[in-house]
Amino acid sequence: MNDFTTPELTQHDEEIELSLRPKTLREYIGQDKAKENLNIYITAARQRAEALDHVLLYGPPGLGKTTLAGIVANEMGVNLRVTSGPAIEKPGDLAALLTNLNEGDVLFIDEIHRLSRAVEEVLYPAMEDYELDIIIGKGPSARSIRLDLPKFTLVGATTRAGQLSAPLRDRFGVILRLELYTPQQLGTIVTRSAGILGIAIDPDGSLELASRSRGTPRIANRLLKRARDFAQVLGDGTITLPTTQTALNSMDIDELGLDLIDRRLLKVMIDQYNGGPVGLETLAAAVGEESITIEDVYEPYLMQIGFLGRTPRGRVATPAAYAHLGIPQNTQSATPSAQLSMEGLS
Ligand code: ADP
Repeated sequence: MNDFTTPELTQHDEEIELSLRPKTLREYIGQDKAKENLNIYITAARQRAEALDHVLLYGPPGLGKTTLAGIVANEMGVNLRVTSGPAIEKPGDLAALLTNLNEGDVLFIDEIHRLSRAVEEVLYPAMEDYELDIIIGKGPSARSIRLDLPKFTLVGATTRAGQLSAPLRDRFGVILRLELYTPQQLGTIVTRSAGILGIAIDPDGSLELASRSRGTPRIANRLLKRARDFAQVLGDGTITLPTTQTALNSMDIDELGLDLIDRRLLKVMIDQYNGGPVGLETLAAAVGEESITIEDVYEPYLMQIGFLGRTPRGRVATPAAYAHLGIPQNTQSATPSAQLSMEGLS
């Protein structure tokens, strides 16, 4: 994936994201279902003066999981501590984090599916009973002591809930799935971000950027900054429909937001496998990406726009994908849609 369309956080994004992150549920655009539910749970917990139950957020990268964790802490009026699964190497690292929390605080663990088994085991009693079991000493003289922890809220984020071990998943009282955003919602996000960053953009420019951002706010915010450069150098500084088109075309992002790898994925399926079904591993090898990246990053959007289908025998390119790439469909063999309905019958 190229630098412009990767929904994963890059270092440069980090500073900008801080200023663009909504701080309240009201400012958080879209994700209505997750927002409505969270609002009820937060209000109820506040009325009872209790810590909010542990929350698991899942969905593709760049959709606003970290942002929501910050909002939860802000709305609850508590501190936020941010860490990630790979950063917590040993049980002692987690113990240090937990014992430094105050009553009600939110501990956000990004990529929570990447916690080691040993760390997970420390987390279970911490989540369930707010207790920490630590072993002191080694060998026969080792003994376990139990520490009381403040009642905290764990907010975990993962790209797929299925990657989490069952005992960990079961300990979350609230599980919320974040969806890709519609172009209209992303348009509102782009307009809001432009306002904060002092960038001039007209409504057509904003909707065009939004439609090419793969349903992902992080990508929309990044493309906004690149479009500003084009508007500044080639135009009068205001991002318009033509400047957006020029900017995105030069970044090889097409009118639906597909980048070179998306198009290569679809072309491999069509040219080499007659539209599929193709196994995930085969596809990954053909385009030179990890299969997990294909599943988490590329597929959600290609499926949302109806270009790719999943069958038990692999991935298929749909007629809409053929049409988008301007490739006529070979009607001699079973078409992907026919294959899909055959899957349904079998
Ligand atoms: P994730 O943790 O899921 O990878 P982030 O929470 O870091 O995603 O969000 C990426 C960026 O997208 C944030 O800086 C924020 O500015 C923007 N963003 C995400 N969700 C929203 C939203 N609902 N409304 C406005 N901006 C959002």
